[in-house]
Amino acid sequence: MADKLLIIGGVAAGTKAAATARRKDPSARITLLQDEADVSYSACGLPYWLVPGQGIARQKLVARTPDAFRSDGIEVRTRHRVEEIDTQRAIVKVHDREAGHSYNEPYDKLLIATGAHALPLKARVSESAPAVAYLRSIADADHLSSLLPGVSTVVIIGGGYIGLEMAETFTKRGLQVAIVEMMPRILPNFDETIATVVRTTLQKHGVDVFTGFPVVELDQGHVVLADGTRIRAGLVLAAMGVRPATTLAASAGIKLGKTGAIAVTAGMRTNVPNIFAAGDCVESRHVLSKQSLWMPLGDVANRQGRVAGINMAGGNAKFPGVLGTAIFQVFDLAVARTGLGPAAALTAGFDPVTEVVVVPSRARYMSNSRPLHVRLTADRITGLLLGCEVVGEDAVDKTIDIMATALWGKLRTNDLAELDFAYAPPFSPVLAPSQVAGEVLNKVVTEARATLELSMFCWVM
Ligand code: FAD
Repeated sequence: MADKLLIIGGVAAGTKAAATARRKDPSARITLLQDEADVSYSACGLPYWLVPGQGIARQKLVARTPDAFRSDGIEVRTRHRVEEIDTQRAIVKVHDREAGHSYNEPYDKLLIATGAHALPLKARVSESAPAVAYLRSIADADHLSSLLPGVSTVVIIGGGYIGLEMAETFTKRGLQVAIVEMMPRILPNFDETIATVVRTTLQKHGVDVFTGFPVVELDQGHVVLADGTRIRAGLVLAAMGVRPATTLAASAGIKLGKTGAIAVTAGMRTNVPNIFAAGDCVESRHVLSKQSLWMPLGDVANRQGRVAGINMAGGNAKFPGVLGTAIFQVFDLAVARTGLGPAAALTAGFDPVTEVVVVPSRARYMSNSRPLHVRLTADRITGLLLGCEVVGEDAVDKTIDIMATALWGKLRTNDLAELDFAYAPPFSPVLAPSQVAGEVLNKVVTEARATLELSMFCWVM
């Protein structure tokens, strides 16, 4: 009989794996168990769906319904939660939420694609405190949407990308928005210059930004910070980050990595035979540092799901790792990054140099040209490109994807100047922003190399 492929989790990694396995092995018996009522939806689209007048209907966020999967011979059971994995007997215990009973389901190959959970807010909550919403799933978005009527002020806890995307969403809905970030600045993982540009834009759009103190209490229509600041809040959105959903895997003896996410091979295999894992619940390997990292992103989950699907169907695909490339929008700005910042580069054993340049996105005299802040990092001696962060109103996506390609190809600072890009004034300055940044950094690298050569020469003499 054909193999029975069982998949736990049905958003990005799980559904991608199911569809890929079906293409690779038309005879495989494939069943997907999904805790939520919805399946195969774009969580990334939720902040845009919540903006009225965008013309995004809820069903447009759903790539494939259970019926569509069924017509491809993939059985999808929604509101079915896997409670236990018995690796010895190769069965999982499933709770059918609708019917209210549990049953055992066997597998030949199992994929764990359980994703991530939003971090819970830990604060004192008084009786008349504002409601707290999260935004991880489409059901969370439904709930959040139901809380909004009658609310005029919202406090977003967390100055990461989801918090910032939602600041724009709430502002467009006419709410007064405040963001609270306990670290000294919003976007703590980005360079300070980039974070400052973003903060200025938030404030320009009327968003209040509070940094440096955690939320300690929700009290009578207010959020209270550790320094005593009270911020009016009709609603609180807790967007403090996520953690990998690994309890099910860990209690079955599946090994977790240093990051706390499931450890997998390049073939998305766990330490237990015939059990694979992919998506936000697993850790990845950084292409440059070779170190493990946790990169809970939709495109990564999809690519890992594809590899898992091929391999569950008997193939031998490999996931090559990640650079940590990401982008998001906040009001007029796009903010993006790829590779290692100086601190991560240092930890990985490089000797990083970094420069920030401000360059026009197109020929300076074109009306749609906008300043672009590019922060480029490279190894001081070899010139190997290590990382890039970009913020601006124009050409951010193009610049970051060029840099991600350059990093993937192990290019050096001197290579950037020689790349043959398309140029005409409406599209780019005569030297692309990535080339200008590369040239500036290449001078630093060339000088550092000359100094090193001189010191070695003196030492030999
Ligand atoms: P998940 O999406 O977490 O799905 C896992 C599923 O498994 C869930 O439905 C869960 O209910 C189910 N499950 C868990 N445990 C069980 C169990 N025991 N039994 C049965 N089912 C179970 N990424 C980007 O790259 N770009 C973006 O712009 C972007 N924007 C985002 C915006 C928002 C608001 C959010 C929330 C996320 C965003 N992401 C973005 C991240 C992206 O959505 C995730 O990386 C992606 O959804 C991960 O997919 P996944 O399948 O690994 O996990």
